[in-house]
Amino acid sequence: MKIIKRETLKQKPSPDTELGFGRYFTDYMFTMKYNVEEGWHDAKIEPNEPQRFDLGTSIFHYAQGIFEGMKAFIQPDGSIAVFRPEENWARMNRSAVRMCIPQFPEDVVEEGLEELLKLEKDWIPTKPGTALYIRPTIVATRVMLGVHASTEYLFFIILSPVGSYYAHGLEPTKLLVEDFYVRSAIGGTGEAKCLGNYAASMKAGEEAEEKGFDQVLWLDAKEKKYVEEVGSMNMFFVIKGEVVTPALVGSILPGITRKSCLQILRDKGYPVSERRISIDEVIEASENGTLDEAFGTGTAAVISPVGLIRYKDKDYVINGGKMGEITKMLYDTITGIQYGKLEDTYHWRKIIK
Ligand SMILES: *Cc1c(COP(=O)(O)O)cnc(C)c1O
Repeated sequence: MKIIKRETLKQKPSPDTELGFGRYFTDYMFTMKYNVEEGWHDAKIEPNEPQRFDLGTSIFHYAQGIFEGMKAFIQPDGSIAVFRPEENWARMNRSAVRMCIPQFPEDVVEEGLEELLKLEKDWIPTKPGTALYIRPTIVATRVMLGVHASTEYLFFIILSPVGSYYAHGLEPTKLLVEDFYVRSAIGGTGEAKCLGNYAASMKAGEEAEEKGFDQVLWLDAKEKKYVEEVGSMNMFFVIKGEVVTPALVGSILPGITRKSCLQILRDKGYPVSERRISIDEVIEASENGTLDEAFGTGTAAVISPVGLIRYKDKDYVINGGKMGEITKMLYDTITGIQYGKLEDTYHWRKIIK
């Protein structure tokens, strides 16, 4: 892999800095270009610096772009581990198909990521709960205003040392059930990790924040009846001892943390069900005392307990506003595997030496 070095390196945040999420970026990035004549080409590592783009570039106008999110962790023996990267590359290529973006060679970007991580190893934070967040993205770069799929693209990977996703860390979150705005409908792009999904969700997110909530809990677009997911997390409920998560019906992002949790739960013998779950069922369970736990899952927040849900102006406190047992077990298992504290029986750690 070609590496273009920079003359001076950036100042790294000190170990005591509150990293937040996505505020700091490392010295280097991986890039690769696409055009019709050459396909994907010119894979390299270069300084992460501001870029110049013509303002007619199609990504600025029609959001033909996709992204991924994964994390790298320092292991007790000093090596680097990435959590299930092959799952992210496969999902990114599925998102590419939905957005008319040409599929990319997964082995090339994996090699690029590994070289980049080796070069940036000193940026991986080591305090508990921190990680190096990996953001692969593809954007349409043809300079053209016609509404057509672009014929040119840029693939890039940038890295950001991060702390916890929510300002209040592992404290249970408060969710506002959104019954007006919708995130995604079947046949739309909710299943793809594409840029426009997030722009479309911001209005609801802002209104929820103004009311003191962390995020919105989305319902299905058609009937506003079935629970879908949270802005950046898949949703789980524990009702009468059964762990329930909405089935992947086409409007929900197929999370890799979700998939990992399902496997852990099934292997440990918990009753698990992927099915449609209505908000009425959740509220009823809360009212009759059978809603034991609720939590969200996603790379950024890992496992995030939900302590309160508001639906139609009524608040429902879950598990006394505290983290539940199954939530804690999943958090400990996933982070234990990620940080190298538990044996990796599933081979989910990709070790980079
Ligand atoms: C990325 C994302 C998730 C979580 O997926 P993971 O693979 O677990 O990180 C859930 N919902 C949405 C909308 C997302 O963008």
